[in-house]
Amino acid sequence: MTRILVTGGAGYIGSTAVYQLLERGYEVNVFDDLSTGHRESIDNRAQFFEGNLLNQSEIEAALVGCAGVMHFAGKSLVGESVQKPEMYFENNVGGSQNLLDAMKVVGVKRIVFSSSAATYGSPEVSPITEIVPAHPTNPYGETKAKVDEMLSARALGDGFASISLRYFNVAGALKTSAGWLAEKHQPETHLIPNVLKSSAQNPLKIFGTDWPTPDGTCVRDYIHVVDLIEAHILAFEWLNDPGHEIVNLGSGSGYSVREIISFASKVLGVEVPFEEDERRAGDPATLIAAIEKAGRVLGWKPQRDLEEMIRDAHLALNQ
Ligand code: UDP
Repeated sequence: MTRILVTGGAGYIGSTAVYQLLERGYEVNVFDDLSTGHRESIDNRAQFFEGNLLNQSEIEAALVGCAGVMHFAGKSLVGESVQKPEMYFENNVGGSQNLLDAMKVVGVKRIVFSSSAATYGSPEVSPITEIVPAHPTNPYGETKAKVDEMLSARALGDGFASISLRYFNVAGALKTSAGWLAEKHQPETHLIPNVLKSSAQNPLKIFGTDWPTPDGTCVRDYIHVVDLIEAHILAFEWLNDPGHEIVNLGSGSGYSVREIISFASKVLGVEVPFEEDERRAGDPATLIAAIEKAGRVLGWKPQRDLEEMIRDAHLALNQ
């Protein structure tokens, strides 16, 4: 049996990973401080260690018996990172450094890291390949780029086998035997959940309609959370020799905010009320992934389309 430590295993993406790992026959330790995650999202087959990444000895205790780590824990909101950069650097960079130090102490060498398309900033090229240099436009992206660098340095220095998976926009939900695992952020800032919650009293706000894109709204590349975790499991199984790779995870296609609204209206059969608002600080105009490397290195391709993401997120919200 292979045991994996999942940091952030009470969060949206982490809890989905926990469930998929358990279904594949892995054993799982979950490490989470429950600051944004939910106790009830943790599968009861996993062993839960409530702890904080700022406390190295708590991480060491959770690592005992593990063959590797999937590291999801971290602060993940672009807008909040602009307001509170110090919180992002402390948790995301400091917390990851403690995790790597704890791994070194316990002798665990394999790590799959949740990196982000936010590391790229607003590159000229589209779709974005992994060789595009990191030029983040917000503190959130800066912290993810720093951890990617740290992993690269420590692959050489400490012999870690690591992979940074650069997520584009994760959406959708996972149906488990105990119900749906889905986004439950408080407050919710992500587009698709906000589209699904939009009402005449509380219409969705479109953040900016004057972006340099075909319809003036931001373009993003959406990926189903179940496909995303499939890639993590392939990545974990692929890790072996010391080194560090960066691999994008997305669909390879972009949709504007307006396109998401009209697509959701069609899938759900209802109008989505919206109003136009100012740009949100830190947002780049367009982010679309080149996903050839994920295919080449991991043998991965997304299987679920935008319709499935919207439908699953909707079913989860109304369960
Ligand atoms: N967005 C929006 N209204 C919302 C939430 C998001 O117009 O209520 C836009 C946001 O400005 C961005 C895109 O939708 O261009 C995706 O944002 P999200 O927060 O879902 O993900 P991000 O790209 O920031 O990781």
